[in-house]
Amino acid sequence: MPVAETVAPPVPPLSVLTESEREIAENVYQFAAETIAPKSMEMDRANQMDPALVRQFFDLDLMGIEIPEELGGLGMNFTTSIAVIEALARVDAACAVVVDVQNTLVNNALLRWASPELRRKYLPQLAKQKVGSYCLSEAGSGSDAFALATTAAKKGDRWVLNGGKLWITNGLEAELFLVFANADRSKGYKGITAFLVENGWKGFEKGKKEDKLGIRASSTLALSFEDLEVPEENVVGKVGEGYKIAIETLNEGRIGIGAQMIGISRAALDYSAQYVKQRVQFGKPIAEFQAIQHDLARMDMELECARLAVYNAARLKEAGMPFAREGAIAKLKASEVAEYCTSRGLELLGGYGYVKEYPMEKLLRDAKIGKIYEGTSFMQLNTIAKDVLKRG
Ligand SMILES: Cc1cc2nc3c(=O)[nH]c(=O)nc-3n(C[C@H](O)[C@H](O)[C@H](O)COP(=O)(O)OP(=O)(O)OC[C@H]3O[C@@H](n4cnc5c(N)ncnc54)[C@H](O)[C@@H]3O)c2cc1C
Repeated sequence: MPVAETVAPPVPPLSVLTESEREIAENVYQFAAETIAPKSMEMDRANQMDPALVRQFFDLDLMGIEIPEELGGLGMNFTTSIAVIEALARVDAACAVVVDVQNTLVNNALLRWASPELRRKYLPQLAKQKVGSYCLSEAGSGSDAFALATTAAKKGDRWVLNGGKLWITNGLEAELFLVFANADRSKGYKGITAFLVENGWKGFEKGKKEDKLGIRASSTLALSFEDLEVPEENVVGKVGEGYKIAIETLNEGRIGIGAQMIGISRAALDYSAQYVKQRVQFGKPIAEFQAIQHDLARMDMELECARLAVYNAARLKEAGMPFAREGAIAKLKASEVAEYCTSRGLELLGGYGYVKEYPMEKLLRDAKIGKIYEGTSFMQLNTIAKDVLKRG
């Protein structure tokens, strides 16, 4: 069954989504099915995003979903961003993460924490033309993010950054970078400060691009800073407030990763459901075997639970209610479900699931990152456990 034949049925409606959110997501899915799907396998093989697609994300206003209209964005809500990420990930998880990082990490951090001047200067660029990256992790600091070693020293009206970052999503395409550095190591994590850095500034260098298992078309780069001078006005939030910006932005970002994972799960379920109706063994389509039907039913049930967790967390965030636990649950559950659905789906295709001509092995590879970035599964469990113990 060629990949091009797999135009998926509409997603069953979810009670928590409004008509307009659902409509935007369906339009984005149609665009992705027509425009991204034909390129997806080749981009994966080439380890490279088609730059024309990134341009289209801007043209379709997908890179500034929550940025107010007067600053060039779409002026929509967080749940719309989440629904768009899910829709894109149903077709290509690497494209989904480009849009995810831009909206849920970079734009959100600036919207919430940047000065009015910074917002006016950079948000229109992020909405219309420039890709952004979120730069927290380093070679020596991943889960223990606040052990970061990049330093920032004040020199007149500038800050001078030294150090480097690792694993930076969108690094290749990005022109704007939200960089976390420690401005006062004597204060520990309370010295961490966020800076908005432009590509091309002296002392800023893009480094090695990773060759990854999955989401291969999404670029992941190392960055280095050598006496990188950043104007004082490009501090995002207050000096020493970076740890808060990092934690709170990632709490939101995790819901986006949950959305990416449910998009992948949906793709695995849709493809499996179509495949089993066509594949004949023992004289009938394998869809007629109850074991196969039950497998699909379990995938559907797990996916529904994960979707509800993701959209519930999104709605809590939008309502200004606490959502750290719910965001952690959403990401943890959705990434487990993505691994489950893609693994089951792969087996439902038998040998065809295991080869690159069919999409299932890519979906399985793409799913794996959900348990690693924006906090590993153990880190999500830590967040959930902390909440449980606080209650108890
Ligand atoms: C493709 C990709 C894209 C990424 N994009 C970005 C990006 O755009 N920006 C960015 O800043 N970072 C990014 N990251 C980094 C990512 O967030 C980290 O890889 C992740 O947080 C894990 O850190 P680590 O790799 O250093 O693993 P480690 O922290 O070394 O963890 C190794 C293992 O130890 C476990 N562990 C660690 N501490 C504990 C503990 N206290 N209790 C129990 N278990 C523990 C972890 O769960 C894990 O299983 C990206 C990573 C990848 C692979």
